[in-house]
Amino acid sequence: MKKLAAVALCVALLSACAHQAPRNPMATWVPSPNFDERRPVVIVLHYTEQDSVEQSLHTLRTRNSGGPVSSHYLVGDDGAIYQLVADGHRAWHAGGGRWGTITDLNSASIGIEIDNNGREPFTEPQVQALLRLLEDLTGRLRIPPSHVIGHSDLAPSRKIDPGPLFPWRRLAEAGFGIWPADDAPPAPEGFDAMRALEQVGYDTTHREATIRAFRLRFRGDAGTVLDAEDLRILHALTLPDQVGLLVPASR
Ligand SMILES: [Zn+2]
Repeated sequence: MKKLAAVALCVALLSACAHQAPRNPMATWVPSPNFDERRPVVIVLHYTEQDSVEQSLHTLRTRNSGGPVSSHYLVGDDGAIYQLVADGHRAWHAGGGRWGTITDLNSASIGIEIDNNGREPFTEPQVQALLRLLEDLTGRLRIPPSHVIGHSDLAPSRKIDPGPLFPWRRLAEAGFGIWPADDAPPAPEGFDAMRALEQVGYDTTHREATIRAFRLRFRGDAGTVLDAEDLRILHALTLPDQVGLLVPASR
């Protein structure tokens, strides 16, 4: 009954209702005109693990085997860019996970699906389109360019996308994500790699899975043991001049 009355009121005041967000009934509503949409602080990259953009456009507007899913964008292998959810809305692409102090990645991020089955190289037009899209999003939404991560980075126990073939170095050369300097020195004696992984943003609860996610991103394989080169990379990523770029800042 209450619901019917509310619907009737909405019909009567259609234009007003259409623009009003739900309000908290325990507070007195004293509206301020000074606001805009909440802005994401991270960009999460995925591969679709499907064989065609048509198939993915369907999945991202319906469901996969786990339930309803979506992403803000889908980049086809011909370089076409599709948008499925508005930047200011919460798409369902990340699922459970953590990056730095962020535990609800869907609320905090823009999700970009890349049309790739996980076994083939990403195409040149696709990488160029992705770089253009990252340029747009980081500029327009003021997302720090270093805050571009992979699905496997935030959910190391569950996910491996965008996979070992994803060109992270190329992204870093264009200014997106993080990457160690080529001439960075070896890690010092006693360097704490797990602490460094946490500092970068990883959840290290499941050690092997975290190392695998790190290797997928920085070494292009799914190794689960850290070697001296991994330590050098981690040390470079956690040098004092890098700290602050790594874990998404709240604002
Ligand atoms: Zn994914």
